[in-house]
Amino acid sequence: MTPLEALIRQEILANGPMTVARYMELCLMHPEHGYYVIRDPLGAAGDFITAPEVSQMFGEMIGVWVSLVWERMGKADFNLVELGPGRGTLMADALRVLGKAGASPEVWFVEASPSLRAEQAKRVRGAKWAARFEDVPAGPAIYLANEFFDALPTRQFLRAEDAWRERVIGLDKDGLIWGLSPPTDDRSGEVGAWREVSPLADDLVGQIAKRLTVAPGAGLFIDYGYTTDDRPDGPTLQAVRKHAYSDPLQHPGQSDLTWLLDFDALSGVFASKGCSSRVAEQGWFLAQMGIGNRAEALAKEAPDRSELIADALERLTAPDQMGTLFKVLGAVSPGLALPPGLEPAE
Ligand code: SAH
Repeated sequence: MTPLEALIRQEILANGPMTVARYMELCLMHPEHGYYVIRDPLGAAGDFITAPEVSQMFGEMIGVWVSLVWERMGKADFNLVELGPGRGTLMADALRVLGKAGASPEVWFVEASPSLRAEQAKRVRGAKWAARFEDVPAGPAIYLANEFFDALPTRQFLRAEDAWRERVIGLDKDGLIWGLSPPTDDRSGEVGAWREVSPLADDLVGQIAKRLTVAPGAGLFIDYGYTTDDRPDGPTLQAVRKHAYSDPLQHPGQSDLTWLLDFDALSGVFASKGCSSRVAEQGWFLAQMGIGNRAEALAKEAPDRSELIADALERLTAPDQMGTLFKVLGAVSPGLALPPGLEPAE
């Protein structure tokens, strides 16, 4: 039993079955045993690889998009704010592109993990940190997040035979088990349907949208997720450990837990505040930002690495890799036009 599992069992014994959100919060962010707190899980030696760790081209293409927005903001001074920056690789790569374009934003990182803050400090000089989004100063800003929202605690609900019930985690003699809370009063929807709600993600997206109405700026959020076109039927919580799927209730605190983001719901939040937004597939978006040309240029500079560069390009953009399941949402302040790459669909 992991030390964290012992604590989780105690909490269930004391308070009764635990919501999935509470379980995720403990597994990922417990101050002593949380997955992101005690390790750097990113990259080849860790449990999974994120897009910025696959290739410098990913962060560079984000930098291209940010520079396009900045031009539309009249090249005003701005904060470049990243939520959950991991090792800081995306920001370092984006800043190189921004520097060439003549932009030198003040960089703010929203990061809860001390070990990852140390990694970020190694790669980005002069950055500032906030443990909570609320502590980032307001003003003209562009907000970025890659694989951040999918790691925030989410609650899960099932339309059971009688009514909606919340999925919870309880205990039996062998360990942690799935269960359902008593029925709620809500009998809407079809039996068997699932709903996932992350109060923290909803709150953060709401705060960002609100800020975009107060000062000019934009948001670019990339995550594993779906729209109404490819909405999955079941619950989407999953665990990954050592580059393979694992059982979310096994090894609490030692595997990454994520869920799939509902991008239409996210766009809805921006629309409700009058911000234009667009959701696109990652592969398409990166192609619009010029990743093909960038890969060619890099291969020309370092011919011995051309195979690696081609592999990375494939990994980031191919439909059977990260190109389709990963989506990009771009949103801008009311009155600003969405820049190329994420302009509204015809
Ligand atoms: N964006 C990075 C890392 C993704 S992993 C990349 O693409 O490589 C998720 C990141 O979010 C980690 O940096 C983790 O420490 C951070 N994080 C998770 N929950 C958080 C919270 N509630 N507040 C702040 N940061 C959080």
